[in-house]
Amino acid sequence: MPKIHIVSNRLPLSINKNDNEISAVPSVGGLATGMRSIYKDYGGKWIGWTGINEEDILPEDQGYIDDILEKNSCIGVSLSSNEVTLFYEGFSNNTIWPLFHYFTQYTAHDHAAWDAYKEVNQKFADKALEVAEDGDIVWIHDYQLLLVPEMIKARRPSVTVGFFLHIPFPSFEVFRILPWRKELLQGVLGADLIGFHTYDYQRHFFSCVRRILGYEISFNKIHLEDRIILTDAFPMGIDYEKFHKSAIANIQKPLNEKSDLSKELEKYFLLGDNQRLVLSIDRMDYSKGIPNRLRAFEMFLEKYPEYIGCVTMIMLAVPSRDEVERYIQLKKEVDELVGRINGRFGSINYTPIWYFYRSLPFDNLIELYSSSSVALITPVRDGMNLVAKEYVACRTSNTGVVILSEMAGVAKEMGEALIINPNNEEEIAEAIAQALKMSIEEQQERMLLLQDRIKRYNVFKWSQEFLDGLHRIKEFQQNFLAKKITDKINQKIQSQYSSAEKRMIFLDYDGTLSGFKANPQDAKPDQELLDLLEDLQRDPRNIITIISGRDRETLEKWLGHFKVNLIVEHGVWLKTYGEEWELIANVNNSWMPQIRPILETFVDRTPGTNIEEKNYSLVWHYRKAEPEQGELRANELKDSLHTLTANLDLEIMEGNKVIEVKSGGINKGVAALRFLQNKAFDFVIAIGDDWTDEYMFRELGNHEQTKDCAVTIKVGLKNTSAGYKLESVGAVRKFLKGLTVLNTTKNQETQEV
Ligand code: UDP
Repeated sequence: MPKIHIVSNRLPLSINKNDNEISAVPSVGGLATGMRSIYKDYGGKWIGWTGINEEDILPEDQGYIDDILEKNSCIGVSLSSNEVTLFYEGFSNNTIWPLFHYFTQYTAHDHAAWDAYKEVNQKFADKALEVAEDGDIVWIHDYQLLLVPEMIKARRPSVTVGFFLHIPFPSFEVFRILPWRKELLQGVLGADLIGFHTYDYQRHFFSCVRRILGYEISFNKIHLEDRIILTDAFPMGIDYEKFHKSAIANIQKPLNEKSDLSKELEKYFLLGDNQRLVLSIDRMDYSKGIPNRLRAFEMFLEKYPEYIGCVTMIMLAVPSRDEVERYIQLKKEVDELVGRINGRFGSINYTPIWYFYRSLPFDNLIELYSSSSVALITPVRDGMNLVAKEYVACRTSNTGVVILSEMAGVAKEMGEALIINPNNEEEIAEAIAQALKMSIEEQQERMLLLQDRIKRYNVFKWSQEFLDGLHRIKEFQQNFLAKKITDKINQKIQSQYSSAEKRMIFLDYDGTLSGFKANPQDAKPDQELLDLLEDLQRDPRNIITIISGRDRETLEKWLGHFKVNLIVEHGVWLKTYGEEWELIANVNNSWMPQIRPILETFVDRTPGTNIEEKNYSLVWHYRKAEPEQGELRANELKDSLHTLTANLDLEIMEGNKVIEVKSGGINKGVAALRFLQNKAFDFVIAIGDDWTDEYMFRELGNHEQTKDCAVTIKVGLKNTSAGYKLESVGAVRKFLKGLTVLNTTKNQETQEV
C-alpha cells in the first residue's frame, strides 16, 4: 500500500528545552489533529522542524530527541538559529506572511532571506525524499514550504505530491509585487493537487499562474508542459465532536472540579441577569484586526450606554512572534487601547475589557466559548479562522451569535453569522448591538444551520476530501498518459520506420516543432530545429511535409531551402518541393468584408489583440491580450460568429490563442490526403498540437490507404483522435532525433556493407 507522508514547518509535537531539560508536548492545532490519523494509518512519516535550534541541542540530548521522533513516526529537520532567523522569521514571516495578507507595506524584500528560504526548503525536500518511495503520497503544508513540491517532483516524479495553503492567496496585483514570484509559483506547481481554503484564493492563484507563467487553465486544471494538475477549494474544518463533547462535559463538571476561570465566570453572571460576555480570541497578529475591534467596542459602549456595566469583552491575545518590532508595536497599541477604554468606561464594579496576553489551556478555551453570548471575530485578513468554528461547536444550547469579518476564509461557509467589514468600526459596533438584542429563536435558527455544516465538514472529512482529490488527479493523469509514447512504443515505431521504404512525415509547425512566442515572428526555427530537419531530409526514403496554419511567405522564408513540401493556411495552399504554389481548392473569400468588421469590433474592445488576413482566412490573435479577458472575448466571438457563419459555409477554428475563420471544406486532413494520393507510402507519421491537426489525424486514421501505416501523434495532454501523445515540443524533437539516429546507423551500415 502506498504510504502517506506529511511535510510541514512544525512537527505534530513540540520539543522544548527549559533549564536544560528536554520535553515533548503534542500539538493540539487543527493541522496536527487532522493529519495525525492519516500519516500513522498509512504507515508514513511526518517531516518537520523540531522547534529547537541546532546549536541548542547537546550531543547527550540527541539520543532522547531521536527516540521521541522515532516513537511518533516523525523525522526532524535540523535548523541553525541563523536559518530560523532568515527562513522562518525572515522570508516566511516577513515577506510571504504580510504580502499574502495584503500588508504590502510590511513586506521585506531581502535576498539573504530568499536564499535561506530556498536552502531550507531543499532540506525539507531532501528529508522527504529519504522516505518517499515510488507511488507514495507526500502532502506538504503551508507558506513556509512553497518550493518543496517542485523539489520533490523533479527528483521523484512517481511520487504523488499534494500541497495545501493555510493562508490566503492574494490577488495578482499584490502577488506580482514579489521579485521571486515566478520561482514561488513554479515551486508550488510541482504538486499534483493544490488546495486552498476558498474558491477566491484558488481564483487568485489561477490568475497569477495564467498571467505570470502563461499556462492554460481549463475548469480547475492547470495544463503544464508535461503534466496536468488539479486545484480545488477545501475549507479546513475542526474536530467538531471533541469541542462539542468537551463543552457538554464542562457543563456537567461538579463544582469542586471547576477551574478558577470557570468560577470567576460564574461569579460574573451572578452580578445580574443582563450580564453578557463578548469573546475575542486570536494570536496577537496585525492580520487579526485587534485594534479595529477594540475601537469598535469603544464606539458600541459610546452609542449604547445602556450596556455599560453589563457587557464585558473577554480578549485573549496569544503572544506570537513577540520579539519582532512590528508585533511589539502592535502589542503596545493594543495595551494602550485597552487601557483607554477601561479607563473611560470602567468603574469599581465594572471592567469593560478583560485582557489576557497569554495562551490558555484547552479546558479554559472551552469555558470561554461556552460562556460567551457573542464571538467577535474581525480579522482584516485571515486564511480561514478556526476560532469561529470552535465557538459554534461549543454552543451546546444552540444560542450565541458570531460576528464575522468578510475577510476571513470562514465567512464563505458561515453565511448565518453577522458578516461585517472589519475596517468599518461603526458597522461592527452596530453588529454587537444587533447580536445582543437578537431573540433566542433567531440565534438558535442561525446556530443550528452553522452547527450542521461545521459538524459535517470536519477536519477528518477535510483531509479525506483532499486525499480523494489526489487519487482523482492521479487517475486522470494516468488516463491522459494512456497514449503516451513509452520506450516500448517508441521502439515499435522505430522498427516500423526502419523497415519502411517510402515514408511521409507530416509536421505541424507552431506548438509542434517550435514553441509559442508572444510575437509569432519570434518563433522562427532555431539551430537545433534546423539541424533536425536537415538530418530528417537527408534520408532519401523520407518525404517531409510541413503542414501549418501560417502564411506562404513566412514558411517559405524559414524553411524553403530544405527539401520539404509545404501546406499552409490549414490546407489552402500546397507546394511540392521544387514546384510552384498550388491552390488546393477553388475557395472564395467574398465573405471577408462581412466578417472583418465583426473581428474589428473585438480588436477595438480587447487590447493586445489583432487581425491577420491570410489569403483565404481571417485570424483573430489574442496571445498578447490580458489572459482572462482574452478567453472571455474568444468565447463571445465564437458565439457571434457561429450565428453569422451558418449560411456562409465557413469554418471557425480555435487554435492556440487564435480564432480563425475560413472557407469551409478545406482543412489539414483534406490537404494531407491530397499529398498522399496515388503515391505508395508504406509509413506515415503526422504530428500536430491543436484542434486543426485533429482533421489530419482523423483522415489518416480512417483512410483506406493510410489507416494501417499511419502513426498520428498529438503534442500536449488534451483529448485527441491521434493514436499517441507526446508532452511537449522538446519531446517531439527528441522523438524525431531518435528517428534520424536510425537513419544514420542504417546509412552507415549500408556504407560499411
Ligand atoms: N488557541 C489555543 N490556545 C489559546 C488560544 C487559541 O490553542 O490560548 C487555538 C484555537 O483553539 C484555534 C487556534 O489557536 O484552534 C487559532 O486558529 P485560527 O485559525 O483562528 O488562527 P491562526 O492562529 O491559525 O491564524
